[in-house]
Amino acid sequence: MSIVITEELWWPIPQWMSSKYEVILDPNLHHNPDKIASAAAQARALVIRNKTRIDRQLLERLPHLQVIGRLGVGLDNIDLQACREQGVVVVAARGGNANAVAEYVIACMFHQARFLGACDNHARNGAWDRQQCMGRELNGRTLGLIGVGDIGQRVAIRARALGLKVVAYDPFVLKSNMLVQDFHVELTELQRVCQVSDYISVHVPLTSETHCLISDMELAVMKEDAVLINTSRGGIIDEGALFTWLKKRPENFAFLDVRETEPPASDDPFNLLTNVILTPHIAGITHESSQRVAELVLEDVNRVLVCEKALAAVV
Ligand code: NAD
Repeated sequence: MSIVITEELWWPIPQWMSSKYEVILDPNLHHNPDKIASAAAQARALVIRNKTRIDRQLLERLPHLQVIGRLGVGLDNIDLQACREQGVVVVAARGGNANAVAEYVIACMFHQARFLGACDNHARNGAWDRQQCMGRELNGRTLGLIGVGDIGQRVAIRARALGLKVVAYDPFVLKSNMLVQDFHVELTELQRVCQVSDYISVHVPLTSETHCLISDMELAVMKEDAVLINTSRGGIIDEGALFTWLKKRPENFAFLDVRETEPPASDDPFNLLTNVILTPHIAGITHESSQRVAELVLEDVNRVLVCEKALAAVV
């Protein structure tokens, strides 16, 4: 029985797995559906990250497939309806990298408030202007969250511990949620989150409803020094509108970990902006989360293969 892994695992294949199954790991497979179809023709399980596109056509070429393990949580690269119809279980590392993303978001806020790299440059170059290096405090400022699921909740709790006020837009969260009751997070409308927040962080999945959820209208009402953080998916913020906003409003700032096209083109216009920090989709990736995600997903894949109930099934 074989398991095919089409992208980097970033963690050694566990011994229990390689002694029980034939495991084919080829991190370049994701580029080419024909190669996946041929490598996985007899496979019972596929293990993927966000780059492998699973569509109906590919599924039809994998007649023995029982389970897809998603090393992460975004499901926008998988046709879930086709999986459902073909009886393929999909398991994802739900919550597996949420701490990593939450800490990345807090790091962005501190980075923007205290700009230690720039202060270091300043001091190394022989300057000692303390006023020029004066930063801001997070305490007392307002964080706006768009989506408060596994990641958004963790960001909210950390931000509250730092003394920020937190407002959030998530129409699927009840007022009885512990964020509201125990952590005094205010649930409100999207427009209000955009209007009142000093920092705005996006944590919704990419779906047809969330595509371009943040566009001209939302950007226009943001504070003149608001900081926007996107660790979710590129398509959720309209990139054309975001570029114009950053260019016209130099006091605003953005941290973009995810992009509409990854990697972006070499002549990416965002490279020319000084009020943006670009990272290569690494918010969820730490040494700790890589282990957690690999263990969680591989163990759940095994559960399906031995006919046990998966713990982290999304289909
Ligand atoms: P989650 O499913 O636990 O939470 C998503 C939240 O979004 C839910 O509370 C849901 O109610 C809300 N939501 C759904 N549709 C919405 C809409 N139309 N409007 C407002 N809210 C809506 O997911 P999560 O684990 O918190 O992850 C969120 C996203 O973060 C993932 O889908 C993935 O794309 C991205 N992600 C990125 C990285 C990275 O490395 N950059 C790592 C992990 C996850």
